Amino acid sequence: MKPENSFLSRIHLYIIISGFFVLPGIFISCNQKPIPETTSAAIKKSDSVQKKFTANMVNNKKDPSCGMPLTAGIEDTVHYNGKVYGFCSDECKQIFLKDPKTLAKNAEMKN
Ligand SMILES: [Zn+2]
Repeated sequence: MKPENSFLSRIHLYIIISGFFVLPGIFISCNQKPIPETTSAAIKKSDSVQKKFTANMVNNKKDPSCGMPLTAGIEDTVHYNGKVYGFCSDECKQIFLKDPKTLAKNAEMKN
């Protein structure tokens, strides 16, 4: 009886040991892939948020097209009649370019 018992306990020990080596391997291979993707996406997102222009680079206080305060960020600018107009987005710039005369007249300018 004694040699048989020790044989069984060796099998159990082998299963336990192989379980320790195999299981962490599965977890590591599963965790490794998604992590670099999410961090690179987060870096990309924060880069696109940064605006190229600041409110002190333009002559208007608010976006002439949508009325948004330019302190929130300026995406693009237009030089018109010796003044620099800042816009929150390219879309607002395009709206201004369609009718710059009216929008420049109504634009809230700095003193
Ligand atoms: Zn706007």
